[in-house]
Amino acid sequence: MAIKIKCPVCPNTRLLDMVWGRDAVFEIKCPRCASIINLAVKNNRVTTKKV
Ligand SMILES: [Zn+2]
Repeated sequence: MAIKIKCPVCPNTRLLDMVWGRDAVFEIKCPRCASIINLAVKNNRVTTKKV
């Protein structure tokens, strides 16, 4: 299952294309605005927030 993740800070809608099979929490850096984004995956839903 691949899901596109939007940056919560800038208009970048291709923050990350990811495939997963389980819940996870991690941080990634947006390549457009350089914000550190906390990303939580739970039950195949994604929540993002700026750190
Ligand atoms: Zn961004």
